[in-house]
Amino acid sequence: MQGNEKPVMVLLVEDNQMNKILVREILTLNGYGIIEADSGTAALKILSTRKPDIILMDLHLPEMDGVTATRIIKSDSSNRSIPVLALTASAMKGEEDKILSHGFDGYVAKPIEVKKLLAAIEAKLAKKAENA
Ligand code: MN
Repeated sequence: MQGNEKPVMVLLVEDNQMNKILVREILTLNGYGIIEADSGTAALKILSTRKPDIILMDLHLPEMDGVTATRIIKSDSSNRSIPVLALTASAMKGEEDKILSHGFDGYVAKPIEVKKLLAAIEAKLAKKAENA
């Protein structure tokens, strides 16, 4: 990342305190900017005024779950191009198709591994740049 560029902004939608701390630390240490939301509802509110480069979406959230929030995000043309990665403990074989069918662009399995999280984010941002 070039020093004079704006940091890549990641919207983290997660209600678990431990995961929030972990992801915040990983992203911050690797030069990413981070915006945090505790629920799907909060994420949608943020998206009405800010456009992150990528979204990390927990599936189980209070008020509005991650699947519903992602469906709403992807139904809005102003948000559709933002990649959404599911944060899921259920990323077993065969689950990926189900996750993708909900409109997610991919997933990161919990427990979160630093290298896998960073690789997933970088791959989606590269693909987004390609499509732009
Ligand atoms: Mn949760």
